[in-house]
Amino acid sequence: MNPHGLLAHLNPSQQAAVSSFADTLAILAGPGSGKTHTLTSRTAWLLAQGLQPWNVIVATFTVKAAREMKERIGKLIGNGMESKLVLGTFHSIARRYLARYGHLIDIKKDFGIADSADSLAIIKRIIKKNNFIIDAKITRSRISGKKSRGARYRDKENENTSGAKTVEAQEFDICYAEYEEALKRSNLLDYDDLLLRCVDLLRYHPSCVSNVEAVLIDEFQDTNIVQFDLMRLFAAHRKRVTIVGDPDQSIYGFRAAEVKNYKRLLKMYPETVTIALEENYRSSGAILLTSLNIIEQDSSRVAKSLLATHAVGTRPVLRRLCDAHKEAEWIITEIQRIKGLTGELLDLNDFAILLRSSALSRLIESALGKAGIAYRMVGGLRFYDRLEVKTILDYLRVINQPDNNDALARIINVPSRRIGESTIKSLLEEADESKITLWSLILGFVQGKKSAKTKLPKQTDQGLSRFVNIILTARGKLTAPEEERMTMPELIKFILLKTDYETWLEEHHSDIHKARWANVEELITQATDFQDLVSCSYEDESLPQIDGLDQDEGPDHLSRFLANVALASEVKNDEGTATAQVTISTIHAAKGLEWPVVFIPATYQGSIPHSRAEDTNEERRLLYVAMTRAKALLYMSYPVKNSQSELTTLSPFLCATSLAPLLDQRGPSFRSSTVQTMAQILRRALPSATSISKSSAFVVSMEDDIFPLNGEENKDEKTSRWNSMAGNPSFTMGQQAPKRRRV
Ligand code: ATP
Ligand code: MG
Repeated sequence: MNPHGLLAHLNPSQQAAVSSFADTLAILAGPGSGKTHTLTSRTAWLLAQGLQPWNVIVATFTVKAAREMKERIGKLIGNGMESKLVLGTFHSIARRYLARYGHLIDIKKDFGIADSADSLAIIKRIIKKNNFIIDAKITRSRISGKKSRGARYRDKENENTSGAKTVEAQEFDICYAEYEEALKRSNLLDYDDLLLRCVDLLRYHPSCVSNVEAVLIDEFQDTNIVQFDLMRLFAAHRKRVTIVGDPDQSIYGFRAAEVKNYKRLLKMYPETVTIALEENYRSSGAILLTSLNIIEQDSSRVAKSLLATHAVGTRPVLRRLCDAHKEAEWIITEIQRIKGLTGELLDLNDFAILLRSSALSRLIESALGKAGIAYRMVGGLRFYDRLEVKTILDYLRVINQPDNNDALARIINVPSRRIGESTIKSLLEEADESKITLWSLILGFVQGKKSAKTKLPKQTDQGLSRFVNIILTARGKLTAPEEERMTMPELIKFILLKTDYETWLEEHHSDIHKARWANVEELITQATDFQDLVSCSYEDESLPQIDGLDQDEGPDHLSRFLANVALASEVKNDEGTATAQVTISTIHAAKGLEWPVVFIPATYQGSIPHSRAEDTNEERRLLYVAMTRAKALLYMSYPVKNSQSELTTLSPFLCATSLAPLLDQRGPSFRSSTVQTMAQILRRALPSATSISKSSAFVVSMEDDIFPLNGEENKDEKTSRWNSMAGNPSFTMGQQAPKRRRV
């Protein structure tokens, strides 16, 4: 791999960042300035310098972003070594370390992951059992909030020292303690535990990361204190850290993300070299200018410069509709119109509808459905949360780890084994009292070693033994010698066969059983893909092998499959489908991504800023993130009445008088000529962009003379610049600036 090639298409600041010899590097810049692009290029550059991929950790925020990064690095290095990088979300990286080294801190190897639905179910059960008055969802987010700040339930933070506790506070404390207890008993870690326990692991056993040469982090502004600690511990040996971020896009304050982490970084690594990137390569001038106008309303913000490299283009539209139905219809009409006007240039993949909350999606989904427009949901009801899929996954969870009380309780009577809700409840209570798991309890009396206090109907016995048998047989097949071992798809088929699940679906969900069965088949397809993947590469090979420490008994496919499922929470469920689809996403899940055409509906007070949001500035940043996803066309809209038929007012963020001339408020005024002109500009890809795909042709500058992307022309100049950088580690900026357009 040629390091010069890696720098060829970058601007001088990006080049400086990619090839910097500084140990700690912070790249702080606005949206669309190529931060992620720079981070992937730097990863490739470090590999070109001779670092081994398994010694490099790259952490990002969403599963989708991680996948895209891996692909981008793959394209840059072209030797397939990207699969050996320790690359993923913080959670997935932490899981990998815990799966391999968790035994060092008493975590059982086959631990399961409680996703947020599992956590909620456990908390609900505790609240019900104790007749508490506290709300389950609020309790879950309070527990998660504490853990995200690094607190454990025994910590001082949880002790109320200022006199008597309220009933709620007492109930919360009990609930928190019992929740932790329940997780432990079921050998589960929740999302926050994955990070906290990995911090424990690395703090007490730093040798697990003694091989790590470099740590690179995207979307640093959204890291919380625990993730910061993890970064520091990963980098404990070589102290080589690159972070990229944008404080203006910090949108996870509600999950304890801390913009202060940048200050912490400077304190911890005083030699940090900070580099700014000032050109925006994503959005048209008009979109960028309007977005900047909004973020600048926040007077507490540190100003930074961001210049458009694209033509001004068309003003963003702000449209008022009489109600949410009309708003949804208008969006669909516009999608069809723009698609019609731009012909081949755009397909449905190029459109996104970004929502402040997923509750807004229902009307839009049904309008798209009516119009026959294919769409994908990101961050909505997950594929894995669908009843039939969850049931099969619960079987897999129990097979992987029978101590998982909640999963076991959900499937013990699916299909029916004549064990009613109240029986399950008293079995759970009995297990709780005896301080054993539900599995141990039922195993005890199925094997005749113990009689249960809970009275079971006679017919239940047989069903229960068959159930126990399915689980035990499947477990046996998983630990069998390699030739006899079941693959993931075989295991799922085994469960379906033994439980006669298709018949059960037909009987219990006759109206939609076909759709439900299709989801089961989709799960088998996913399992097959997964199996193919693990058969050709076992990703954990990239973790260090430490003599005497490593007691890994080999790949455990089932727990890895389940972990993938649990950690794929934000990922859309129909990834990789061939048909073009409009994306519907929450704004949070759209972070880091881009589309040629973006719609942001419901831009009214109460929706954005959200009525329950505590931090107005964070809500403004959310709108800014949403707007800056758009490359060419941006539509914002709001209904006169909200879903409760109350009159709405426009979001205060969009009310400023300075915004009026920047927005097109007259309605959908894109005439065909306007769109066609724009399409022509967008189609005019630069010479260096010939290999860029159709939709990413929007990525490149719209004017050939704006920035010399053509590497050939400037080869000599670039080579000498690279050499001078190599000799000058503190090189940051001030190189020949690209010609650019001020907005
Ligand atoms: P965000 O803050 O939204 O995550 P970002 O700063 O990470 O944005 P990228 O996603 O890396 O920005 O880049 C935005 C777009 O600009 C991408 O399509 C990328 O390929 C393109 N891009 C980045 N740098 C250049 C460049 N030097 N020349 C042309 N296009 C570029
Ligand atoms: Mg990015």
